[in-house]
Order: sequence, then structure tokens, then C-alpha cells
Amino acid sequence: MNTQEQDVASQEQQGTLRQAAQEARTWLRAHPGFGAAGVVVSLALGASGAFAVAQPSDDQIVVRQVLEVVQPVTSYEQQAAALRAHDFTLYRSTETRSTDTAAALLKRLAVQDGAAESYVREMDTVRTELLGPQDRLVKAEVYPDHRLKQLTVSWLDAERPGRYRQLVLTRTDKGFVHQVKTGSAEMTVALAQVEVRDSFFRATTQAGIPETVANQMLDIFEPVADVKGDIRKGDSLQVAYERYLLDGQILGAGRVLSASVQVQGKDHQAVWYQPSRKSAKGDYYTPAGEGLTPALLPTPAPGAVITSEFTSYRIHPVFGVARAHTGVDYAAPTGTPVQTIADGVVTFAGWQNGYGNSIEIQHGGKQTTFYAHLSSIGVKVGEKVGKGEQVGKIGSTGWSTGPHLHFETRNNGVAEDPLVVMAEQRSTSIAASERDAFRQVVVQAQRHWEMAEAIQLASAE
Ligand SMILES: [Zn+2]
Repeated sequence: MNTQEQDVASQEQQGTLRQAAQEARTWLRAHPGFGAAGVVVSLALGASGAFAVAQPSDDQIVVRQVLEVVQPVTSYEQQAAALRAHDFTLYRSTETRSTDTAAALLKRLAVQDGAAESYVREMDTVRTELLGPQDRLVKAEVYPDHRLKQLTVSWLDAERPGRYRQLVLTRTDKGFVHQVKTGSAEMTVALAQVEVRDSFFRATTQAGIPETVANQMLDIFEPVADVKGDIRKGDSLQVAYERYLLDGQILGAGRVLSASVQVQGKDHQAVWYQPSRKSAKGDYYTPAGEGLTPALLPTPAPGAVITSEFTSYRIHPVFGVARAHTGVDYAAPTGTPVQTIADGVVTFAGWQNGYGNSIEIQHGGKQTTFYAHLSSIGVKVGEKVGKGEQVGKIGSTGWSTGPHLHFETRNNGVAEDPLVVMAEQRSTSIAASERDAFRQVVVQAQRHWEMAEAIQLASAE
């Protein structure tokens, strides 16, 4: 911390950061589950003065640490206290690994117990839940002679959000028994901010963001950006996600609650919103209340007539043999305008065998549209096009029996029925009756992003 840095921080920035730090403290107090985050808490609590001067200019930001919650360990004090309370039991904990064998797992827990080992190996349920799945919490109570007293493995129920499952293996006079229990996990919110130095996954991994959360982020922004492919050094991301705890230990991550990504300098933001009507489906929206998936236009050729629909099987008009028709045909006189049904970037413009003059346009990360048999092409590869923009004209080039547009929508390269895709992908704005509640969710999301930023700056000290 030096005076040079101090000069860099404007009064306004200092005010914002102080406020963010204050909110972080308040928020942390209200979310005791975050107490596992020793580093985060102490930084947030101790950094009040430091926040004001910790704002470096952009090119000075070198530490890209995340305010990831510290791995909760069974603390030495806890173990010592447990020892005092139960003279004859030792408590050990670990996490499962995909490569675990019964012997390896028990060894990690300092268990030397042939009966326990064969029970784990031979009981189907025990073996399935304990050996193979990764990162499940395992706790063992062990006698001083290293025999197992009880073993508990806990994990989040993938089918039921917020619930955990727990397998308990107990020694009895007649040997081991096991049972599966369920319960509600404690939900906390984890925040992270990362500045990208090279790739998306390297950034999220270094930041300690779980892979499931990173993948959700890619899916959420997929309609508007290819985050993984296009993110660059200097871009950043912020995310708030559900983190489930059991007895203060992290069980796993749940849903992304809000995320903000910068891709090549352009910001995209998403907020999860579940309408108050429980039967209504939750979804991600922009802070303005628009669905992230942009609505598609209902047709690429206004005024044209559909003469052939998408089928997996039909007689080809030229070849007279059975072939799938992977698009929709729109008949209209040569020269009728063809429009792109969504914003995108032209990824192909030229001649394709069979299709004649064709255009392919990419929308977001996975979706593409394809326009064929054109009499003329009005765009070039790499050109950005806006929804409704004219990209070419109807013609009969390639293998075509008369002037028409052959139109396809593809998801990850696989053709889907365009009429279904265009009908389903309609605008999904927040309903008027939900706007007040939605606004509150947005305010909370913005606070989370600010806190993520403030804590990152504090930890960069
Ligand atoms: Zn066709």
C-alpha cells in the first residue's frame, strides 16, 4: 500500500468500496454459514481502512485470487475437544476420491480393520456410495486400536435440491450394519470474482469455483456469448452460487444465483428468478428483466410459403430416393429478401455443393442458422448481422427444382426442426406482476457482485 495507489483511487471509488465492504460485513454476519470462510471474514472485517487504498489502477491488478471460501477442515481444536469428551474415540475425516479402494479410503482415515474393509467391499450400497463418487464427505469414528466404530459419508441429493443423503456404517455386537438417511442441507451463498489470465476453465479452477458452477455459467450465457471460446485475458467474471453445508462442512454447490461475465470487454449479466407462483418455472434473466435467450423471428422469408417441412424421412425431389429433410423450404419468387432470424455472426457465405449459394450464421455459442439455394448473398464471413437484417435473396442455385429457400436451424451442428425452434424461442420477459419482486432479486445480485469485487480487492492486499 503506498501513496501512489492512494492517488489512483478516486473519492467515488473509495465510497463505493467502503459501502461494499460494509455490506459484505453485514451480509457475512447474516450468513453464519460463511463463518467457515475464515479468511474471507477476517479480511472483510479487518480491511475497512485498507479498502480505500487497495484500489489499484487496472494495470496494477496482479493478484487474481478469488474470495473462495476456505476449505473447512475438522479443526485441531474440534478434534482435541472431541478427544477430551470421548476418551476412546478418534475422529477423522476425508473426502472420497474416484480412485478409492476400500483399503485406500480406510487407510486415509487411519482405520485398520479387516471386517470394516470387507464390509465396504462386499455390500453393494456401501461400495457404490463410498467408492467411485468423488468429493463426498467421509467421517470416521475410530477406536484407539484403529478399529472402526462408525463411518458416515454425506453428499448432496442430485434429484432433490437442498437435500442431502447420508450413509452411516455402524459397528454392532453382531458385525457392521448400514443405513441411508436424508435431510436438509444448510444453504449459503458463495461469491467469487476472477480476472481471466488465459482460459475460462483455468480461471475458474484457480479460483476454486466448482466445475458444476463453471459449466452452469457457460450454459446460462450460451445464447448470448461463447464464454469459453471467446473470453480473453483481462476479462473478468463474478458469480454467486448456492453452497450447501452440513455441520459447517461443504457438501457441494447448487445453482448459480447470479453471474456477470465480461467477454472481450462486453458485459453480460444473468440473474436467476423463480416466480412467486410455485408452478411457474424459474429462469435466468438480464437485470432488465428480459430472457437471456433472444427471441427468434418467426420466419426467415416473410411472405414465402412453406412447401416442405422438417422430416427425418422423405422422397428427395431431385434424387427420387428416401432422404431426411433437415430443414424447411420456403417458396417465393427469385429475389425475395431473406432475413436472419436472430443477431449473429456470419460463419459461412459462399457455394456449397447441393445447397448452391448459402449462408451460415452463428448465434451465441451453439446455435446456427443456414440459408441455401440463394440467388445472391449479401454478407461476408465474419460480418455481424442484426435480427431481421437482409442477408440474401431467394433463388434456385444448387440442387433445386425451383426458387425457394432451404432453411435450417442447428444446435451444436445438429439440425433441429426450425418451426419448433422458432415457436419455442420466444421472448420471455418478467411478467408485470413479478416486476417488484424481480427488482429486489436484481438488487441483491448486484450487491453480491460488489461484495465479490470488494473482497477480492481486500484479499489482493
Ligand atoms: Zn429444403
